[in-house]
Amino acid sequence: MIVPVIHWFRRDLRLQDNLALHAAFDSGKPVIPLFILDPSIAASPRAGTPRMAFLYQALQSLDAALRLYGSRLLIRVGKPAEVLAALVTETNAVGIYFNRDYTPYARHRDKAIEQALSIPVHVFDDAILLPPGSVLTATGEPYTVFTPFRKNWNTHAKPAISERDLHPGIFYALDAIAGENAIELKTPSTIVLPAASETMAMQFLSDFVRQDLFQYAETRNGLPIQPFAEPRPTGTSYLSPYLRLGLLSPRQAYHAARAAWQQTQNPHYRESIETWVSELTWREFYMHILYFYPHLLERDFKDTFLNLEWAHQPQDLQAWQQGMTGYPIVDAAMRQLNTIGWMPNRARMIVASFLTKDLLIHWREGERYFMQHLLDGDPAANNGGWQWSAGTGTDAQPYFRIFNPVSQSEKFATPEYLRYWLPELRAVPNQFIHAPWTMTPQPKHYPQPIVDHAQAREHTLAAFKRAKGE
Ligand SMILES: Cc1cc2nc3c(=O)[nH]c(=O)nc-3n(C[C@H](O)[C@H](O)[C@H](O)COP(=O)(O)OP(=O)(O)OC[C@H]3O[C@@H](n4cnc5c(N)ncnc54)[C@H](O)[C@@H]3O)c2cc1C
Repeated sequence: MIVPVIHWFRRDLRLQDNLALHAAFDSGKPVIPLFILDPSIAASPRAGTPRMAFLYQALQSLDAALRLYGSRLLIRVGKPAEVLAALVTETNAVGIYFNRDYTPYARHRDKAIEQALSIPVHVFDDAILLPPGSVLTATGEPYTVFTPFRKNWNTHAKPAISERDLHPGIFYALDAIAGENAIELKTPSTIVLPAASETMAMQFLSDFVRQDLFQYAETRNGLPIQPFAEPRPTGTSYLSPYLRLGLLSPRQAYHAARAAWQQTQNPHYRESIETWVSELTWREFYMHILYFYPHLLERDFKDTFLNLEWAHQPQDLQAWQQGMTGYPIVDAAMRQLNTIGWMPNRARMIVASFLTKDLLIHWREGERYFMQHLLDGDPAANNGGWQWSAGTGTDAQPYFRIFNPVSQSEKFATPEYLRYWLPELRAVPNQFIHAPWTMTPQPKHYPQPIVDHAQAREHTLAAFKRAKGE
């Protein structure tokens, strides 16, 4: 009798450099490639239709890639513990392999699964270069400040990329057990998605490290209109949705950057590469922070501002969500998010500052809205970004640093970016485009600013000081 092992795909939807999958291959047993669609996750208010649509496309691509090797992706719907137990009984599988997920929910679920299953469970650190616990202070504590974390992180050797030759013999003959997948992978979103496949992720990575990576230090704050359109605009890598679902691994990203570093002696290029690697390190930093301080998904990382009197203004929140605040940079970025499921980092910082500091609305509202709309919505990075912007997080921006939405717009937004996302402003001349309320007559159909920035700033500073007891 042929006994298989199971590889449970989660946020690692690729065949190359997949540590758990490759360990499953190395067992010498035929591998069942499994994805479990957990209805409770799909129904969660934080799941977000665009990301689910991107996930479904990624599953279809993975299935197509597996078919090249005479296999396919087995998709089952249900609670993971029950699905796995049933599949073990059905197939007499002798091992389960998966890659670790570091969110509190996933850790709790996985621990219960490891304890409940009667066969060996093999778990790997794949979604991160250096797992939580491997980068600690001299006294063995987790870092809560980024710069010393990064210095320490830089001293560690990074794991190599794992490669395997794929061929039909390494997969289990699924037709014997499963029939066709019963579920239809619809993409329930009107958003035009970037192609969600491992091949595309590698293509984007190699295009980026061949050229734009060398200019990253200058271009990283740009606001591209359509980041996923061909030809891809210069700016950042636009790899976050791929890293989120594991269509690309952090090792592949890191080693591609290091190879580019080796190929150049130009100090300016090398600085750009280090800056990009530093962004990958922020990704790891926030994953470590969430691992050690899971409370921050529920409340402020720091207790300093727990008594802050946040505003309850549903209309302001709605104006922010819909891109109707009257501040073009905020509105253009929010409409970009609502339309393509993605927003550049500089724009994320500006809209987050506006919500939490100009409108004094709790960061939790913005965090949830981002999770619902971002293709790359990730609990660790998203919470980190929101609490950083609100001034409540680890190593956060000081509470008194409040972005001015007009000067930020003048510095970072091109008139084309604003006009593209705000059709109401298409006829507004460049000199008024960042603050259209200063022109006469006012542009029709575009709202007046919902707050006066200078007054809002004073109000917010006073609220933060009161919360600190000053
Ligand atoms: C309020 C707010 C919310 C955010 N929410 C998310 C989120 O849900 N998911 C997410 O992946 N990023 C989030 N970020 C971080 C950052 O904005 C995105 O990672 C970045 O814009 C993705 O674009 P890119 O792939 O072109 O990045 P690049 O600039 O090319 O960077 C490469 C990779 O590094 C990682 N990275 C870059 N910056 C950060 C950062 N500040 N924190 C953590 N990782 C980073 C990402 O994985 C990114 O793909 C958020 C930032 C803010 C201010």
